[in-house]
Amino acid sequence: MTRLFNDPSRFADEMIEGFVAAAGRWVQAAPGGVVRSTQADEATVALVIGGGSGHYPAFGGLVGPGLAHGAAMGNLFASPSSQQVYSIAKAADQGKGVLLSYGNYAGDVLHFDQAQEKLRAEGIDVRTVTVTDDIWSAPQEELHKRRGIAGDLSVFKVAGAAAAAGYDLDGVERVAQLANARTRSFGVAFSGCTLPGASEPLFTVPEGKMAVGLGIHGEPGIDEVDVPTADELAAMFIDKLLEEVPEGVSLEGARVVPLLNGLGNLKYEEMFVVFRRIAQLLDERGIAIVEPEVGELCTSFDMSGVSLTLLWLDEELETLWAAPADSSGFTKGSVAPQRAADAVVTTEADTAIPEASDDSRAAAALVDAALTAVAATLDEAADELGHMDSIAGDGDHGIGMQRGSRAGAAAATTAAQAGAGAQTTLERAADAWSDRAGGTSGALWGEMLRTLGERLGDTEPVTAGAVAEGVAAAKDAVMAFGKAKVGDKTMVDAIVPFADELARRVSAGEGVRQAWAAAAALSQTAAQSTADLAATLGRARSHGDKSIGTPDPGAISFALITKTIHDVLTTSKEQ
Ligand code: ADP
Ligand code: MG
Repeated sequence: MTRLFNDPSRFADEMIEGFVAAAGRWVQAAPGGVVRSTQADEATVALVIGGGSGHYPAFGGLVGPGLAHGAAMGNLFASPSSQQVYSIAKAADQGKGVLLSYGNYAGDVLHFDQAQEKLRAEGIDVRTVTVTDDIWSAPQEELHKRRGIAGDLSVFKVAGAAAAAGYDLDGVERVAQLANARTRSFGVAFSGCTLPGASEPLFTVPEGKMAVGLGIHGEPGIDEVDVPTADELAAMFIDKLLEEVPEGVSLEGARVVPLLNGLGNLKYEEMFVVFRRIAQLLDERGIAIVEPEVGELCTSFDMSGVSLTLLWLDEELETLWAAPADSSGFTKGSVAPQRAADAVVTTEADTAIPEASDDSRAAAALVDAALTAVAATLDEAADELGHMDSIAGDGDHGIGMQRGSRAGAAAATTAAQAGAGAQTTLERAADAWSDRAGGTSGALWGEMLRTLGERLGDTEPVTAGAVAEGVAAAKDAVMAFGKAKVGDKTMVDAIVPFADELARRVSAGEGVRQAWAAAAALSQTAAQSTADLAATLGRARSHGDKSIGTPDPGAISFALITKTIHDVLTTSKEQ
């Protein structure tokens, strides 16, 4: 239970504000998260990490000398937006290139990749190493599909130490990849976590049972067993992780860093009892333990659980692991004194509103009314969407859509009132939506609104044909961006019938209102029928079967939005 909060939808922002107030020795606020408040004498490669909030000390707590230079901090359990990643990377960049490193989750990959493209287009050398340590999230043959959990720390630590030691970007990228290739984690959970304001936990584990392989956002595990003794759990961890010794490591004479990580609600004392046996077992097998960590390194709100990570060292990794680091959430040795960094300068965004025709302004007012209604609908549906997402995903869909649509509606209102046309109003809404929502769906909704806006323009007449074409283009953009096809159990399953039906009816001469009504109804049916499908993409992928019987939350929210817009269209005078 998360007990202390104000407005749940402001929880992440207020948490970051408080974190910055408390951790000024290490960090300062920057748009999108935090960057260091200190500076080394020489410019170095910048390590930029990030992810959703709710995992402290990941990610903001790992910013400081010897570790990361900046952290993009998303909403609760939702990836930061590409704008957040971009602006943190810009603030952290020292002219030596940027390494982006984060846990391998679909939403994070979309946003970090978008940011990477934008930074590269500006001539900044940017590389990416995603962390894939969780052995239960995909089989060995598909290492690249595995998600990142507490092994984030071993990769960040090695990369941060390499940057501090003056490695160039090639070198930092190389050791980060090596650390990831040599990091494996195994997690278990005893009870779920409850996000602020939620009435129920994201997931539950039956009393007396332990979920094996459960993810840090509550992604379902692969098995449920009776809670073992501390020694039995230690043996389970070690047996399994020794079955998966990474390529290039020989057990004989092996040196390893064990990280025993508490997920938020486990006593340190319990972890020490488990670690005692882990140390014995490694010792019995002749594996040398190097500078271990026992504590909270990557949490999951108030989830009760524990994971063991093994980082298999070579000489270089050992030097980098042992190098000093100083951050609010992780320290090692003593770092050289640092200078205070210059304060981050935030430049005002270009807010000039381009010329627009009266017709396009009228359409902008309708866009504003529609998005405002959508935000109200999603406010009400947030709990249910979150619950649906928690069955096989991570439970953040409701909160993400709520935050995104609110921000989108506010931006649309501001733009429309300032005299913007349809395109500018939709573009401002798109940026605000994806920036505030995070998550896969936030990126995709940003893409859809932006694409629709481009087709409508600021000066062209907004005809039924233009709307249908814009919606079709938005559909294509989502499919190009997210690579999902119909049948993959994503929002695409609801978008395709909607866009196709709208186009068909409009080209047959129907007006927008009538065509939209029919298309929305079809979309609703299609969204409901995703219940019969197994998920193949996104976070739900590794738990495909669990999702059968529950519709895809992104498809359901899409259908709900089209229905809400239909209601606005029927009550409006325009069109
Ligand atoms: P996240 O998956 O990052 O937690 P959300 O929970 O907000 O993001 O959104 C989940 C929804 O996003 C899914 O229900 C699905 O409809 C949609 N989605 C996920 N991946 C894709 C993709 N590759 N293409 C299209 N839609 C996707
Ligand atoms: Mg989700």
